Amino acid sequence: MEAKRTAIMNFTPKDLAALLEDWGEPTYRAQQIFEWVYQKRADSFETMTNLPQDLRKKLAQEFVVNSLHVVETVSSSDGSRKFLIALADGMSVETVAIPHRDRLTVCVSSQVGCPVGCPFCATGQAGFKRNLEPSEIVGQVWLVAKQLDRRVDNLVFMGMGEPLLNYDNLCQALLTLNAPWGMGIGARRITISTVGVPPVILKLAEDWPELRLAVSLQSPFPEVRDYLVPLNRVYSLRSLLDALKIYITRVRHRVTIEYTLWEGVNDRIKDAYELVKLLRGLNVFVNLIPGNRVDGLPFLPPSPARVKKFYNILKENGMEVSIRLSRGQDIEAACGNLYRIHGLERGL
Ligand code: SF4
Repeated sequence: MEAKRTAIMNFTPKDLAALLEDWGEPTYRAQQIFEWVYQKRADSFETMTNLPQDLRKKLAQEFVVNSLHVVETVSSSDGSRKFLIALADGMSVETVAIPHRDRLTVCVSSQVGCPVGCPFCATGQAGFKRNLEPSEIVGQVWLVAKQLDRRVDNLVFMGMGEPLLNYDNLCQALLTLNAPWGMGIGARRITISTVGVPPVILKLAEDWPELRLAVSLQSPFPEVRDYLVPLNRVYSLRSLLDALKIYITRVRHRVTIEYTLWEGVNDRIKDAYELVKLLRGLNVFVNLIPGNRVDGLPFLPPSPARVKKFYNILKENGMEVSIRLSRGQDIEAACGNLYRIHGLERGL
């Protein structure tokens, strides 16, 4: 049986330089190797022609550049593309490329499945399998850049999983995604979307103050939020808002509040007024997102008139708010839908 090779995307130049030194190689080779991996998007050591042949061979025995591969791609008429990506152990995740004018945003997964289990979400309903390794988070972005042959400008962690429940691996991946020797994506162009893990939100303010944060609120009423976001039973709405207040004071920039509207569940007039009350005085921007229907689940998006009414109440009460229409409506837009429909069918 072939020995398991290490993912080179789990390494920093410093780690790799130390290892190369042990091998008796000059440490500057680490920089050359990462230039091949991240700038030239080389997918094999064999192609790294400025490295000695012996070193290329040894690297290929010990390391793998990228162990992920695309098993299915679905393109939307609006230009976005959803990839079902297989991991080395046969599991799979979804990654979405969203071009907008001359910029490319990639929506990344942080876990296989999700332990939060929101009842309206395809990923949540498919259960939790495991955390992604740093190399598997970076690998998704790298693979999309390679497939589309263009650089990635923005990242959103809005794919499968709750990123703040995989915090250590997320931080290690962020180092590579952000570094000039890595994917070179500016911290302000990276958004972490979370349902809210208050102690980790406070850590994020210390570790990555420039990142952008989006919090899925889903309901201003604790008992409704307990149902829509089961993690609310562990971390209350009050503790989440307290953490957000501290976070905003520390990072000094606005937080996005994501609010997915479901007919009759959280789109009522009293929901809108309570939301205003809850968020008043906080430096936030509210994104209203009409939900994406998932086959077999009992949640329906509200009519455009109901969405507009909700929007108007927020607007008239001084909130900064917009209605976000999700891209890729014709390609199973809801997070985890492609995985649920195709990945699970294939046993991925
Ligand atoms: Fe997890 Fe987000 Fe889906 Fe909730 S909505 S189950 S947090 S992926």
